[in-house]
Amino acid sequence: MTAPAPVWRPRDCHAHTTFSDGVLAPKALVEVARERGVRPSIADHLSGDVSSAVGTVAGVVHYLDVLERLRADAPELSIAGEFCWHDTLWRDLPREQWARFGHTVGSLHAVWLPSGARMHMFQRHWTEGLDAQAYMDAHVENLERFAREMPVDVLAHPTLLPHALRARPLPELWTEAREERAVRALADAGIAFEVSNRYRPHARFVARAVAAGVRLSLGSDGHTFDQVADLAWPLATAREAGARDEELYDPQAHGRRQ
Ligand SMILES: [Zn+2]
Ligand SMILES: [Zn+2]
Repeated sequence: MTAPAPVWRPRDCHAHTTFSDGVLAPKALVEVARERGVRPSIADHLSGDVSSAVGTVAGVVHYLDVLERLRADAPELSIAGEFCWHDTLWRDLPREQWARFGHTVGSLHAVWLPSGARMHMFQRHWTEGLDAQAYMDAHVENLERFAREMPVDVLAHPTLLPHALRARPLPELWTEAREERAVRALADAGIAFEVSNRYRPHARFVARAVAAGVRLSLGSDGHTFDQVADLAWPLATAREAGARDEELYDPQAHGRRQ
C-alpha cells in the first residue's frame, strides 16, 4: 500500500496570542489553525514599543521556552515573532536566541522622517506641514533601509500607512515607482512580501512582487478566534498574482534567510 501524497496546506505566517495583544492562548491558536486546515505560526509582538508585547530579551527567552514546549506536541508550529523596525529589541537579541525562531517577521510600525522625527502608523495626528508624497518618499527610504539592516524573513503588511493616509486609494501613494523600489529591496535581501488579510495590499503591488522574484507569505495577522488562520483572501490574491501554492513562504519547507 502506498501512502497518499501529502496534501499542501497554507501556512499562516503571522498571528497573535495572549503573549501580546491576541485573545487566544498559544495552544488554542494551534488548534484553531488545525481545524481550518492551516499550518500555524505564532508571531507575537516582540518589541519595546508595543503595549502588552514581550518587550525584553529575558521576555523573549521565556516566550521561546514556552513555545518550544508547545511545539513538542505540534511539530507543524513555526515559532515566530513580529519585531518593530524602529525598536531596538531585534538588535539587542543574542544570535543564539535569534536562531531559535522558525521564522521572523519585521514591521514598519513607525518610520523616520528627514527631520529626524518619527511617524507612527497608529498615531492619530498628522505632522504639521508634511506633504503626503514627501512622506511616502521617506516611507520607501525606510523600507529600503529595513531590507538592508533587519535580518527578518518576512515584511509584514507592506502597505500599512499612517492613519491619516488610510482613506486614500493605495495606488495613489504606492506609485509604480515606489512599488518598484520596494520589491527590488525585498528581492535583494531575500525577504518575503506578506499578503496580509488585515491590511490588504492592492493586486498590482502583489503582482509586481511576484514578477521581481519576491516570495509571498500569507498572514492573517489574526488577534481573535475569527481572524486567526483566515487565509481565504490572501491565498486567492497570491494565486491571482501568479504565485504557485508550493512557493508561498513556509519556513519548514523553505528555511530562513542566511
Ligand atoms: Zn503589525
Ligand atoms: Zn501583527
